[in-house]
Amino acid sequence: MSSETTTYTMTIGGKGVAGAGRFDVLNPANEQVIGQAPDCSREQLDQAVAAARAAFPAWRATPIAKRREALLAIAGTLAGNVEELKRLLTAEQGKPHADAMGDILGGAYWCQATSNLDLPVTVVEDTAERRGETRHVPIGVVGAIAPWNFPIILAMFKVAPALLAGNTVILKPSPFTPLTTLRIGELLRGVLPDGVLNIVTGGDDLGPWITSHPGIDKVSFTGSTQTGRKVMQSAAATLKRITLELGGNDAAIVMPDVDVEKVAEQLFWAAFKNTGQICIATKRMYVHKDVYEPLKDALVAYAKTVKMGDGAEQGVQMGPIQNRLQYQRVLDLIEDAKANGYRFLIGGETSEAPGYFVPVTIIDNPPENSRIVQEEQFGPVLPLLKWDDLDDVVGKANATEYGLGGSIWSSDEQKALDIAERLATGTVWINESQHLSPLAAFGGQKQSGVGVEGALEGLLEYTNTQTVFLRKAAA
Ligand code: NAD
Repeated sequence: MSSETTTYTMTIGGKGVAGAGRFDVLNPANEQVIGQAPDCSREQLDQAVAAARAAFPAWRATPIAKRREALLAIAGTLAGNVEELKRLLTAEQGKPHADAMGDILGGAYWCQATSNLDLPVTVVEDTAERRGETRHVPIGVVGAIAPWNFPIILAMFKVAPALLAGNTVILKPSPFTPLTTLRIGELLRGVLPDGVLNIVTGGDDLGPWITSHPGIDKVSFTGSTQTGRKVMQSAAATLKRITLELGGNDAAIVMPDVDVEKVAEQLFWAAFKNTGQICIATKRMYVHKDVYEPLKDALVAYAKTVKMGDGAEQGVQMGPIQNRLQYQRVLDLIEDAKANGYRFLIGGETSEAPGYFVPVTIIDNPPENSRIVQEEQFGPVLPLLKWDDLDDVVGKANATEYGLGGSIWSSDEQKALDIAERLATGTVWINESQHLSPLAAFGGQKQSGVGVEGALEGLLEYTNTQTVFLRKAAA
């Protein structure tokens, strides 16, 4: 462990604050300690809330043009330090350097694009007696809670609209990936007014302290559906506003008219990018029986060309699973598939070597009710499923508590658009996957979420709607 990595501090009221304690952060590629993060005490969270509350009146009164500049300054800081940040992110998250760069620059882009949004004012009445306007005013202090799969861009999904709308923020990264976010906090001191963006890290208690804190007005959470339910319950006590971006079990529906050679590589990465640890990864791939065999062969052939390893090594395309808990969960799903006698097209081996590596694993047409089909695997294990009746496969795609995303692969665009209308998901992609845009609202139906991020709809989630009626003197 280098001495540099031991000095990360939280950012509270614009100052560096050491934790009441510290906890180790591991590199998932080799399980070595790469640094320690501060363990925020309850009193320190109170201090962060007090700092954010103190900063709120001036920040909400700051002209939106200045708040836009603040977002651009965050974008500039992320982009300007991307080399340092990407190395740290790869070390703690495991993803290859190129993907770490995408996470950080994606966060910068999100801040920049969000800075162009406007808070609309609607004139609802304008008569001789009265003028009425509906506006969107900031909520107050936002608690932003991020997961470990895309620590930076998913944090910026929250920070950018929250700040633009005039709120102040307390950001909590996952305890598995806290260091890059802490470092960004250090880099932003002096760039933003003190107390506008506070960054705290800690163990399992810190999230619930945030979601139940009476001084926090809104919680924006990205993580699992299971935790999302707890967040909603905890936020209910003080009726906090909530945005929940939760888990998914996205289906890809591959039609018989696809060009197998053309789509195989895209379909592979739809499932395996970020080692399958993406909320909108393809987690069930339904392939029409006419193209099942050639696509199966093409996926396996492509999988054999992909290099997995330590994300800091040149040429590596897939890193390890991010943490031991998730690693064991994925291994458990593999063991379940083995115990049930499902056929593995590739992968399935486990290793005792250090590092949370699970090889690319594709399972050949397991039953619909198998765990690998029904559960969110969040790892590099894909069930390939054969279908031959469109109504049946659409029914299966929708037969889940999740409703995050889904994709359709076909050379018949109109047919694909018709199927898209039948999918009960927040986003549908046709002949691509995982494209997100700051101009498009993103969110989950059913138990994949509450509310949206991105675009004007996402920005408005950080506001209260306020109508002002003015009775005109002349009347
Ligand atoms: P997680 O739910 O375990 O943790 C997410 C965050 O919540 C972490 O910061 C964690 O420390 C915190 N947390 C844990 N318990 C808490 C509690 N009781 N109260 C408040 N906060 C608490 O999720 P994860 O394992 O970090 O992330 C993987 C999951 O996130 C997957 O299910 C994935 O699909 C989902 N995800 C969803 C989106 C989306 O936009 N819909 C994006 C990425 C990931």
